[in-house]
Amino acid sequence: MSHTEKPKEYCGLCGVSGGERVLERIQKGLHTLQHRGQEAAGVMVSTGPSCLLHKATGLVEQVFATIPPAWFDDGVNLTRGISHVRYGTAGGSIAANAQPLMVNMAGQTVGIAHNGTICNAPSLRRELQNDGALFQTTTDTELILHLMSRALQKRCHGHLWDALAEALSQLKGAFSLLLLTKDTMVAVRDPYGFRPLAIADYDDGGYMVASETIAFGVTGATSVREVEPGEMVIWNHSNRLESRRFADSPRRAHCIFEHVYFARPGSYVFGDSVYQVRKELGRQLAREAPVEADVIVPVPDSGLYAALGFAEQSGIPLDMALSRNHYVGRTFIDPALTSSRLKLATSKLQPIPEAVIGKRVCLIDDSIVRGNTCRARVHTLRAAGAREVHLRVSCPPHRFGCYFGIDFPEREALLANKVPLRDLCRSLRLDSLSYLSQTGMLSCVRTRKPEDFCCACFDGEYPVQPDELDKRP
Ligand code: SF4
Repeated sequence: MSHTEKPKEYCGLCGVSGGERVLERIQKGLHTLQHRGQEAAGVMVSTGPSCLLHKATGLVEQVFATIPPAWFDDGVNLTRGISHVRYGTAGGSIAANAQPLMVNMAGQTVGIAHNGTICNAPSLRRELQNDGALFQTTTDTELILHLMSRALQKRCHGHLWDALAEALSQLKGAFSLLLLTKDTMVAVRDPYGFRPLAIADYDDGGYMVASETIAFGVTGATSVREVEPGEMVIWNHSNRLESRRFADSPRRAHCIFEHVYFARPGSYVFGDSVYQVRKELGRQLAREAPVEADVIVPVPDSGLYAALGFAEQSGIPLDMALSRNHYVGRTFIDPALTSSRLKLATSKLQPIPEAVIGKRVCLIDDSIVRGNTCRARVHTLRAAGAREVHLRVSCPPHRFGCYFGIDFPEREALLANKVPLRDLCRSLRLDSLSYLSQTGMLSCVRTRKPEDFCCACFDGEYPVQPDELDKRP
């Protein structure tokens, strides 16, 4: 997928409870999750007697570089912490929406970090405001704190995690969460398991929880398991892992697009290696939509592994004929700069004439959303001397929006809705175009069953029924 067409990313979570070098482990882990959000980063830690918070707009490295020196004073012992990278979806792009959020609740400091989208957030917000709640941010995440606070006042008599369970039972949609108090860390995954969240441990008794397992290896942690859909995992003051269910799972609805595009190839999500699934998507695509071509060309970086699989299956050599300029400014830092992002992205990938002159080129991309940069890419490949340009896409056409944490463009802007499929090939000035079928896509995952995945942005079958959804403007 081209960078200008990238659906706005959602968030990444990394938390550590117990063990040594807590802050260093969090920083390294969160850094591996930078692809899940580049707008803001934040970290909240417990020193034992109290909690500290630092967050700002910017990348992980930039934000951690400005942590106050007092955090590193002799005698400050960081025992646990949670962290977050954000690319605003629900709530807009303002600094106040950076996470974790930290509040005082019934005399305790509580922090929260969230990945996902609460589908019924607008009606819950209205209800809470009618009850007198004052919001400091426009994020869905703050709702959870208000719901906890209300549950504490009404029913739960000071039991914070009972109040959390009560709050969670009112939410609809996608939520992987980390929460922190001065002596406890909690990890939560919604009953459908839309977004990944996994647990690892260290030899020294510490634990890490992260959106993707890629965070574990770089810090020396060993994968233990996923947080189950509908599960709350609590590490208390003695760092003992306690599991509680807060809801039954009506079904699983893991986001298949994590495998197609979002997650890093070095991660396991929903039980499968992203690398293996992505390569298998390419193999399956080659079986479903063979092509007569001289060279397979991935659209870097995200089309690479599907292209490897396609080349292996088809026997057609792969060549890196699109060269990426790594020194073009980051196109994703400011989500408001749409026109300048477009200009930057079109100059980010350049064809290498020696690799394409006189050749029948088959491009492999992970998806087409708007189609603008795809059209430009075909043009530049032909200008560089390609005799034919074919395109194979490693997922079905995107036709629907996502209510579960991914910010796709409005439906009318999606290419597959603007141009009938039979006309797309001509519209993009391609010699041939094929998408992977939904059945073919789902056949590439191994651990979970096809019906355990959400494919709503492809087929419009929303796991949380649309009549339960508060449509966002
Ligand atoms: S609608 Fe698409 S992007 Fe959203 S959770 Fe479902 S599969 Fe993922």
